[in-house]
Amino acid sequence: MSAGPDDARGGAPVRDGHADICVVGAGAAGLFAAIWAARSAHASSDPGVAPVSVLALDGAARIGAKILVAGGGRCNVTHHEVREADYSGSTPASVRNVLRRFGVDRTVEFFRDLDVELKREDTGKLFPTTDDAHTVLDALLGALRMSGAALRHPWRVTDVRRLGSGFEVSGPAGSLTCSRVILASGGKSLPKSGSDGAGLEIARALGHSVTTMIVPALVPLTLPEGHWIRGLSGLTVDAEIVLRSSTTRKMRAIRGSTLCTHFGISGPSVLDMSRHWHHARDADPGCTLEMSWLPGTSAEELDAWLVSCKGAGTVAVLRDRMPERLARALCAAADVAPDSTVQQLGRERRRALVSLLAGTPLPVTGDRGWNAAEVTAGGIPLAEIDVRTMESRIVPGLHLAGEICDVDGRIGGFNFQWAWASGFVAGCSAAEALRSAHVAGEQ
Ligand SMILES: Cc1cc2nc3c(=O)[nH]c(=O)nc-3n(C[C@H](O)[C@H](O)[C@H](O)COP(=O)(O)OP(=O)(O)OC[C@H]3O[C@@H](n4cnc5c(N)ncnc54)[C@H](O)[C@@H]3O)c2cc1C
Repeated sequence: MSAGPDDARGGAPVRDGHADICVVGAGAAGLFAAIWAARSAHASSDPGVAPVSVLALDGAARIGAKILVAGGGRCNVTHHEVREADYSGSTPASVRNVLRRFGVDRTVEFFRDLDVELKREDTGKLFPTTDDAHTVLDALLGALRMSGAALRHPWRVTDVRRLGSGFEVSGPAGSLTCSRVILASGGKSLPKSGSDGAGLEIARALGHSVTTMIVPALVPLTLPEGHWIRGLSGLTVDAEIVLRSSTTRKMRAIRGSTLCTHFGISGPSVLDMSRHWHHARDADPGCTLEMSWLPGTSAEELDAWLVSCKGAGTVAVLRDRMPERLARALCAAADVAPDSTVQQLGRERRRALVSLLAGTPLPVTGDRGWNAAEVTAGGIPLAEIDVRTMESRIVPGLHLAGEICDVDGRIGGFNFQWAWASGFVAGCSAAEALRSAHVAGEQ
C-alpha cells in the first residue's frame, strides 16, 4: 500500500496493506461510519483479541467540501423534526428503520459532546451556533482522530473486489485488503467535491443494481430564453409550485420561498419540486408545472377580488399584494395595459390576468445540472440492503451509507440526517459483525 501516513492518533494501526474495516469516502456518511465503527469496536474490544483497524479513504485533496458549502457555509446539520415522509426514493418503512436508529436528539447530543451546540431557526433547521460549517467539519475530524480510525487522502478508489472472505480495495495510490467495506462515496451532486458517481459503478460491478433514474435533485430549473420570469431576476416571493399530470390532475404542490433568476426559477419551493418534476416527466412526458403567485387564493376568489376593485388601476391593485415589478410583469404577460382600471380591462383580459396569477405555466426546459444540485435522486435501492445493518443483501461484508443509497431528502437538513443515521448503522454494524466473527474464530 503506497499511501501517506495515517491521520489517526490511536486505535489499531493499518499495517501490511490490511485494514479490518475500510470506509470508501470520507464525507458526512463516511466520517460518521468510520467514527462509529472505531468507537464501537473499541467499546466492545476483548483484551485477548487484536484491536480492530478502521481506515477511511477519500479521493479528495481537501476533506469535507460538501460540509463546508452546506447551508451557505453555515451547515444545516439537521432538522428539529425528521420523518420518513421528508424523503423520497426507497420505501418510507425502510427509511424509517434507519432514521430511528439515530434520531435528531442523538445528532444534537453527538455534536454537543464535541462542543458544537446547535441552534434551531424558525424554519426548524438546526445550525451550529457559530454559523460556521468549519465548526462541524473540525468536530468530525477531531472525533475521527479520537476514535482511532485512520484517514488517508487523496486516495481514490477505482476498484473493490471480493477476495475470499474479504475484499481488495485499489486505486492509483495502491491497494489494500480488508474484511469489511463501507461504501460511502456519495452520489453525483457537486462532482468537483469528489463525488462523481464512481461509487455507484463500484457497487454495480459488485452486483448491485442502481435505479434507472439518477437525476439531480434540490436543483434550480431553467425556463426558455426570453421568458418573462427570467426578466424578474432577483425577485423572491412566497409562491406555490404545482405539478400536474398530462390530464391536469394536481400531483403535488409545494409552497415556499421562490426565486426568479436570470435562467429560470430557484428557491426552496423549486428545489424541493425538482426531483418530483424529473420523476413525473419520466412517467408522463406531458406533465406540467405552474406557479401560483398568490397561494391560498383560488382563481374564483382572485376574480371576485379584481371585480371588487373596479375603479382602481390594475397595477395599483396588484401592488397591494405583491412587488410592483411582478405586478407590471404579470400585466404585460396577460396583455393588460398596466394603467387601465380593472373595469376597463374587460372580462377576457381580466380572466387572462387571473389565470396567470393563479397558475402561470412554467415551460421548464431542464435543470441546472450536477454542479448546482444539492443531492442525487436515485442510487442503490434500500431493497438490496438490510436496513438493520446497512449491509448489502447481495455482497456480504459490504455496507452502504449516505447519498449513494436511493434516498433523497427535502431541503432543511434532512440529507445530512440521513448521512448521520445510515453512517452510524453501517459503522456500528460492521464493527459488530467483525467482533462476532472474531468470537466465532472466523477471521
Ligand atoms: C451546495 C450543497 C449544499 C448542501 N447543503 C446541505 C445542508 O445544508 N443540509 C443538508 O442536510 N444537506 C445539504 N446538502 C446535501 C449533503 O451535503 C449531502 O447529502 C451529504 O453530504 C451526503 O453525504 P455522503 O457522505 O453520502 O456523500 P458526500 O458528502 O458526497 O461524500 C462522499 C465522499 O466520498 C468521496 N469519494 C467519492 N468517490 C470516491 C472514490 N471513488 N474513492 C474515494 N473517495 C471517493 C468524495 O470525495 C466525498 O468526500 C448540500 C449539498 C450541496 C452540494
